[in-house]
Amino acid sequence: MSSPTVLIADDSLVIRAVVRDGLETEGYRVVEAVDGLAAVELCREDPPDVVLLDIEMPRLDGYQVLAELKGDPELKDIPVVFLTSRDAMNDVVAGLRGGAHDYLRKPFEGAELLARVAAASHVKALQDELQQRNAALEQLSRADSLTGLYNRRYLDHELTRYHGDSIRHEYPLSVALLDLDHFKQVNDNYGHSAGDQVLRVFAEHLHRELRSGDVGGRWGGEEFLLVLPHTDLAGAVAVADRIRTATAAEPVAVDGRSITVTVSGGCALGPAESPEAVVQLADTGLYQAKLAGRNQIATADPPALRMP
Ligand code: GH3
Ligand code: MG
Ligand code: MG
Ligand code: MG
Repeated sequence: MSSPTVLIADDSLVIRAVVRDGLETEGYRVVEAVDGLAAVELCREDPPDVVLLDIEMPRLDGYQVLAELKGDPELKDIPVVFLTSRDAMNDVVAGLRGGAHDYLRKPFEGAELLARVAAASHVKALQDELQQRNAALEQLSRADSLTGLYNRRYLDHELTRYHGDSIRHEYPLSVALLDLDHFKQVNDNYGHSAGDQVLRVFAEHLHRELRSGDVGGRWGGEEFLLVLPHTDLAGAVAVADRIRTATAAEPVAVDGRSITVTVSGGCALGPAESPEAVVQLADTGLYQAKLAGRNQIATADPPALRMP
């Protein structure tokens, strides 16, 4: 891990020099701000791991700097240690209540300052680790374990989100439901793990053919769903057909054997009255594609409006 960065914000050149010296000896990287505004700007440019903050400074005082940092979602978790000659209890309390991690009075003992910065830096490192783990878990909770594509839970979430959004902002939302043809025979003829490998390769085709903004994933078993915001029916058919063509054109090699698979698809244009209704419509299209001989993409017309 690279050495933690400490921003020292103080209008006193002497204080900055002394603190820098001590911190650099301990292996910290040190950045200096000569007033409050510079401190906030430096934090936005390159967030440090700890801020050592004077209170009485030109432009913005330490309390204002603290408020700026706590109000910025990107900066609110940086531990702030006040380092100030204001030693009244109400100053200490105001600093800590404002969200400071710690409060140190000038004149300070070098060893104490270093110990307090080390504690703040440790807290920051733990927070960063937690954040990374949460991001990894979030990623994991969206993924289908076999193919690495989005799973049904996340597709449901995105479908609902885009369905609402497409109604609010009046844009077309299409979905495509893709289902591998005669997939049971693949398992029966080549074994279940060969079937799994075919699903993985199909997922790669699907992933490759999606445009940015498209959401595609595994809906279940050998069925895959594409959620296509800002896409009309012709656009949805085009995406689905590219996946179909790539699938039919590239047999999957498993244990020296070559397995040819095809895929059928149904496309539908939303927003219908509900997210489920759009998928249901695509499913009707899929059924028609299967009936018509598989290895093709079909569309389903929305149910005719009933006249009064
Ligand atoms: P159709 O063309 O009508 O879709 O026929 P099909 O054989 O693909 O459809 P069916 O629904 O009869 O069979 C789907 C098969 O997909 C049966 C099931 O065992 C298999 N399957 C579902 N999930 C997986 C999986 O994760 N791995 C493997 N290897 N097979 C799976
Ligand atoms: Mg000062
Ligand atoms: Mg199926
Ligand atoms: Mg199938």
